[in-house]
Amino acid sequence: MKIYADYAATTPMSETAIKAMINIMQEVYGNPSSLHSIGQKAAEYLLQARIDVAEAIGADFKEIYFTSGGSEADNQALISAAYFGRLKGKNHIISTPIEHHAILHTLDKLKKEGFDVTLVDVESNGIVDAKKVEAAITDKTALVTVMFANNEIGTIQPIKEIAAICNERGIPFHTDAVQAVGHVPVNVKELGVDMLSLSSHKFKGPKGVGVLYANKKVPLTNVIEGGAQERGKRAGTENLAAIVGMAAALKEAVANVEETAKKTAQRRRQLIEGLSQIEHSALNGDAEQRLPGNVNFCFEGIEGESLLLLLDSKGIAASSGSACTSGSLDPSHVLLAIGRPHEVAHGSLRLTFNEEITEEEVEYLIQSTKDVVEYLRSISPVWDELQRGELEYVI
Ligand SMILES: *Cc1c(COP(=O)(O)O)cnc(C)c1O
Repeated sequence: MKIYADYAATTPMSETAIKAMINIMQEVYGNPSSLHSIGQKAAEYLLQARIDVAEAIGADFKEIYFTSGGSEADNQALISAAYFGRLKGKNHIISTPIEHHAILHTLDKLKKEGFDVTLVDVESNGIVDAKKVEAAITDKTALVTVMFANNEIGTIQPIKEIAAICNERGIPFHTDAVQAVGHVPVNVKELGVDMLSLSSHKFKGPKGVGVLYANKKVPLTNVIEGGAQERGKRAGTENLAAIVGMAAALKEAVANVEETAKKTAQRRRQLIEGLSQIEHSALNGDAEQRLPGNVNFCFEGIEGESLLLLLDSKGIAASSGSACTSGSLDPSHVLLAIGRPHEVAHGSLRLTFNEEITEEEVEYLIQSTKDVVEYLRSISPVWDELQRGELEYVI
């Protein structure tokens, strides 16, 4: 059996999106900024994609800015709000320690420019308490940015509640919704967010394209300077094929999102139940307030990397921590933030999927993981010491 269970890293492309892109590449080669009819035909496709993307998240099409992906949208959102705040003497930003590196590294950069950053701790279930976010607000706060759903442990944050707190105080609120859009219902107006990032390749669209949603609260600062594309806020000839492909994938993903989320969550419960039978294992993140297609476990006494390689040999593509951190020896900053000790954080497994996964595939994931964990423990000196009582079990 072959199972791709790494949807949080990237997804395979939807057939509809591929077809939409091929059509653009073959037929619509004009530059949307050109005045002739070939250019204007491209401009029409661009506008339609903007309208479709806006509709999918409950925005106005004038609030949609196409970017090169989730990372760029995150960078631009944070930099814009920070610089706008600075104009009014505000230099404080609130976030969480479990954000994606596109947020955390941008915050590091802003710190070097003199901004103060408060990272509000998350609870051991991987969810931030909105009251603690509220308590961190000062009269210098220029921005609050909290991710919608975590890319490693899938936990869904109380975005609507935090947005209400920020709105009451007139503080701009941004959410990195890259893992959420297309997987759970996301409506910017219902949520009350001012800025939101999304990325096409996380919902079966092409890679290298994303969106920054921004209402009027924060004037955008350019991250890329040049031409007047994207209403003067993001220069560069539009990647029309990718933009149209993203819009097609998004339309498809949100069409039955509540239904597909329910179906996927059923499989998630099945998987969590099966993996929980492994002794000295623990689910990372809340069991229910998490993405429908995310399961993340720690197994005591083993190494995540060996686990991944052996699962790969059984046809299973999984992940341990985020793609950006794998390859380094540092344990996941998310697992550390929810209180997992280093030695346990190293033995983590992330399985991410969508509604297409079958019951049989989930059974195969459970059985293969059980077998591999058992094998790795049989050759693990750490497990041996744990078994003999020379080391204490943490989970
Ligand atoms: C993937 C991801 C990003 C980065 O998006 P790219 O389009 O790959 O740049 C940002 N935030 C989260 C939560 C992600 O999962």
